[in-house]
Amino acid sequence: MRVLLVGSGGREHALAATLARSPHLTALFIAPGNPGTADLGINVPIGVENVPALITFAKEQQIDLVVPGPEAPLVAGLADACAKADLACAGPTQAAARLEGSKSFTKEICYAAGIPTAQGERFTTVADALTYVRERGAPIVVKADGLAAGKGVVVAQTIAEAEDAVQEMMTQGSMGDAGRSVVIEDCLVGEEVSLFAFCSGETATLIGAAQDHKRIGDNDTGPNTGGMGAVSPPRGFDRVAQEQALDIMVRPMLTEMARRGTPFRGVIFAGLMLTETGPQLIEYNVRFGDPEAQALLLRLTSDLLPALKALADGQLDATPITFSDQASISIVMAAKGYPAKPETGAVISGIADANALDGVTVFQAGTTENAARDLVVSGGRVLSVCAVGKTVKEARDRAYAGVKAISWDGAQWRTDIGARAL
Ligand code: ATP
Repeated sequence: MRVLLVGSGGREHALAATLARSPHLTALFIAPGNPGTADLGINVPIGVENVPALITFAKEQQIDLVVPGPEAPLVAGLADACAKADLACAGPTQAAARLEGSKSFTKEICYAAGIPTAQGERFTTVADALTYVRERGAPIVVKADGLAAGKGVVVAQTIAEAEDAVQEMMTQGSMGDAGRSVVIEDCLVGEEVSLFAFCSGETATLIGAAQDHKRIGDNDTGPNTGGMGAVSPPRGFDRVAQEQALDIMVRPMLTEMARRGTPFRGVIFAGLMLTETGPQLIEYNVRFGDPEAQALLLRLTSDLLPALKALADGQLDATPITFSDQASISIVMAAKGYPAKPETGAVISGIADANALDGVTVFQAGTTENAARDLVVSGGRVLSVCAVGKTVKEARDRAYAGVKAISWDGAQWRTDIGARAL
């Protein structure tokens, strides 16, 4: 099979490495890719949101399967354009990608499908939003309805804080169009976990669960990032609990989406809060997480390529997908100054030494080659050091040994990834 993988991060390096193991793979192109994916296939200089160029390339190259990594091309309609061009695509249509693109749409689906989620409402006027905040009281959560790159959610501890968030989003336009309408919901308390599954129509197959680490600093301090590490499985959320959550949080959503004539095909990422009264849905994402994908894909024991093709063709039922019961972890190493102002250009050393360690794999993201052909830092999240092990402790010790082997000027990473899962 000839595959076009779309994206350039650590998630796509992990997807490329997993696809490259398939005996069914005959050609792998990555648009635009990174130096890590260049070792596994051919990087093509097309941006992830340039849907027309991606389609033209896929037709020219007689691609059998398009695999989207990030959400941007899906929200831009890549899967719809593939369908029109008679190309198989392992990702959801624009209509189904609304599960990630609109928080009020997600709420609507949850209520219609009976999926447990925080009580909340959508508001299009400041006056109504403020009245609701005052009636409902604090703590309360104010969310920009549209996509805001992880910055559109304020967990307000006081009514004044919630009022400010409403004004900033709706009156001052701090989130642009994404915040012209807001969703306001009750504050949930508990441990946050992410559940992943392959979905096609009404069929869902468990991939696994992970716990992300969003903040830049140890003990969840400092500003939010794209994710500084992930561990799988999270403590207290074993395989049985994951299967149960799939029944409660994902399958009813698939049924509702199919009933509406917008069936979901792709990877679903359900963000859950494990509250005292059971799991509650916080959000859906319509693709693998980064850095969760890196950790989860290391445990895949079956062939990813036929599974993704079956998913795209609506034949998921017929394809076995298996994962080992090992623990896994990914630790992001970021550039100096990340997330505010990452500094680029530092020369990276030690990746080969880290890869030589038992159970350790390094996936690249914000890297490039300079004129002297040195590998240098080119983005905020530079790479992720991943490992598998019999236990979380073993995986964690291995990955941190890998981190120790790698260096560049100003490299930063968290030292507590996976600590809560021990
Ligand atoms: P964006 O649209 O800006 O990219 P997002 O998709 O990351 O944001 P959510 O996942 O809905 O937005 O929320 C981000 C974080 O806010 C969650 O990971 C969680 O920590 C917190 N959060 C969201 N909703 C609630 C809630 N009801 N109660 C408590 N915390 C919440």
